[in-house]
Amino acid sequence: MFEAEKMQLIEYGIKVFKSGLVQGTGGNLSQRVGSEGQYYLMTPSGIDYDSIEPKDVLVMDMNGSIVEGERSPSIEHGMHREVYKHREDINAIIHTHSLYATALSIARQPLPEIESTIVLMGGSIEVAEFARHGSMELARNVVKALSNKKAVLMANHGLLVAEKNLERAFKGCLGIEQCAHMYILARSIGEVCPIDSEKCDELREYIRTSYGQKKKGN
Ligand code: 13P
Ligand code: ZN
Repeated sequence: MFEAEKMQLIEYGIKVFKSGLVQGTGGNLSQRVGSEGQYYLMTPSGIDYDSIEPKDVLVMDMNGSIVEGERSPSIEHGMHREVYKHREDINAIIHTHSLYATALSIARQPLPEIESTIVLMGGSIEVAEFARHGSMELARNVVKALSNKKAVLMANHGLLVAEKNLERAFKGCLGIEQCAHMYILARSIGEVCPIDSEKCDELREYIRTSYGQKKKGN
């Protein structure tokens, strides 16, 4: 089942690893599948990204049951599932332990709207309260702090990006990591000035309507 989508998940796992967003088997990825979005594909727990084969990827349902696959799923499968259950607009989730985003999460400091990437994620990226890795408490904290945005920091742990598809989730992880780095650099030389919230609204609308190439027929 979902062989092409499993391959895609594996490919993005390798990209996440090669981009340095995780070390070893840290982090995990999932994507929603099924005609009604009733399942999700979940990476297995503790297997090197470049060793994951399609048969290692789990098909899971929204009750947490394994529909296909012999491996143990990522310990964070409940966190991925809770986000899908609360957010119908989300089809792909990537959780990383990237350096600067995690540093902010350790300082328990949100990432304000300092640059367009953060503005487009729906606003400042908040820090979900700490709970044990793999716990349902962590899953609930993440859903709460994520709210209706596309990214959330996880206290003393890492970052989660929830998006329409894997490509956007991957680009979001890279973009947020770069912004976290910029923010820490800027803070080290002086006061930081986030973009005014009115200007953020204007920027979001401008990018939505005017950025990139016009679609054919427009
Ligand atoms: P898994 O290998 O089980 O996905 O765990 C990695 C991780 O990042 C836990 O938070
Ligand atoms: Zn983790």
